[in-house]
Amino acid sequence: GEVAVETDVVVIGGGPGGYTAAIRLGQLGKSVVLIEKDQLGGVCLNRGCIPSKALIHSAGEYHKLASLEKLGIQLPKGDVTFQMSTWQTWKESVVNQLKNGVDHLCQANGVTVVKGSATFLSNDRIGVETGGDFETYKFRQAIIATGSRPFTPPFVKPDGVHILDSTDALNLQKVPQSLGIIGGGYIGMELGMAFAKLGAKVTIVEAADKVLPQTVASLTQEVLKQAKKLGITIRTGTKVEAASVEQAQVTLDILTHQNTREQVSVEKVLVTIGRVPNTGEIGLSQAGVQTDERGYIHVDSMGRTNVAHIYAIGDVTPGPALAHRASKQGVVAAEVIAGLPSSFDTPYVPYVIFTEPQIAGVGMTKEEAEKQGYRVKTAAFPYRANGRALATDEKEGFAEVIVDEQSHLLLGLHLVGADASNLIGEGVLALELAARVEDLALTIHPHPTLSEVWLEAAEAVLGHAIHIV
Ligand code: FAD
Repeated sequence: GEVAVETDVVVIGGGPGGYTAAIRLGQLGKSVVLIEKDQLGGVCLNRGCIPSKALIHSAGEYHKLASLEKLGIQLPKGDVTFQMSTWQTWKESVVNQLKNGVDHLCQANGVTVVKGSATFLSNDRIGVETGGDFETYKFRQAIIATGSRPFTPPFVKPDGVHILDSTDALNLQKVPQSLGIIGGGYIGMELGMAFAKLGAKVTIVEAADKVLPQTVASLTQEVLKQAKKLGITIRTGTKVEAASVEQAQVTLDILTHQNTREQVSVEKVLVTIGRVPNTGEIGLSQAGVQTDERGYIHVDSMGRTNVAHIYAIGDVTPGPALAHRASKQGVVAAEVIAGLPSSFDTPYVPYVIFTEPQIAGVGMTKEEAEKQGYRVKTAAFPYRANGRALATDEKEGFAEVIVDEQSHLLLGLHLVGADASNLIGEGVLALELAARVEDLALTIHPHPTLSEVWLEAAEAVLGHAIHIV
């Protein structure tokens, strides 16, 4: 047989989980081979977080133009237009800059990057197909970080032209006149609002009885108000049964919440109804690694699978499919392999939804805390009572803190409003430091900034907020 190249660790998949693990292993002096069949940066960098946030940013700037006049800005007469093809060029440059950065960091940390598709041959060997060649690596430890791909239901198969998955949608050269979105999860809501701002007539169809089903209803409410202003039609409790393409139109057969059948015709359809882990074709059985019936690999707090020297991180493990969870799990697995005491705590993984307004949170919701037996005190502070929010014309939203009545420990922080994605950082740190509500209230927050919403929500819990009664 083939002579295997020996290495301490192989990492399979170069997404935010895999490349982070590989760099950390390099820092800790391990020899590491990172195998990626497509592009460094994975879904997040190439067709997820980064491109979607670039689109959402452009859409937001474009849409803002309509409300600038009252701020004293006179736009030149004539139409301002959005060129999606130009946006594609800009997006590519952003993605490439970040990808080159990842490549450089891997090199600088002694990580060997191998371009090819990996399959386990046994529990200490892996084969890599690299454009015609086949190489084998013998490893002491392996980290599985092969990520996930869009789930495609049998009744609406993406064809890349009329029926799109999120990757296709982010590669469009033109904004469609009308867009039907199947699935009102965070990806559907984020992209739906962005395309609506760019001029598409958007219809979102969601089978559950509400969009963003995992999010607290009061937070979602603020987003629904804005969605309505953008002319987005949201149909909940509604199932898509079939899709047919005819003359550049897609017709969706839907079953409404009243059990009636209707048809909706749109130029393009975007399918965003979940993701599936890439664990079917990597030879897991040869390595003895088990998955559950949905294909997820279960791991302990150190990232170990049922085979103790094989680890799994990121979207292949059960839990929220988020890039920052993947990269943290990657750091933990690398440190455990290097013999350091490290473990991954799930409770404090923040979530962010880049709708308008943005939603973000960390820790327990009020309902979750009560379910766990806490007596809770909560208070919310509205953006419209915050000076900065008024001065920047972003007065929609509120921040809420959830506190254990007995110990005053912060249990959860959630908010909806401008820049929630950045503001949640303070909440994550507060939970990480096991802060009490007094810590938040005693902290001097710079004025005028949106961060003061946390200060005042904390003061409100203690009964002495200055700017609300
Ligand atoms: P991935 O990023 O999926 O990377 C896995 C890599 O493994 C891929 O590059 C793949 O090519 C490679 N691979 C697979 N099989 C093999 C094999 N056999 N051999 C070699 N290589 C292989 N998350 C956030 O936190 N914030 C966001 O705002 C956000 N927005 C998103 C928007 C969209 C539209 C999408 C689709 C996702 C978004 N996500 C976001 C989720 C985020 O992208 C994922 O959680 C993250 O990429 C998971 O990282 P990972 O390392 O587990 O896997």
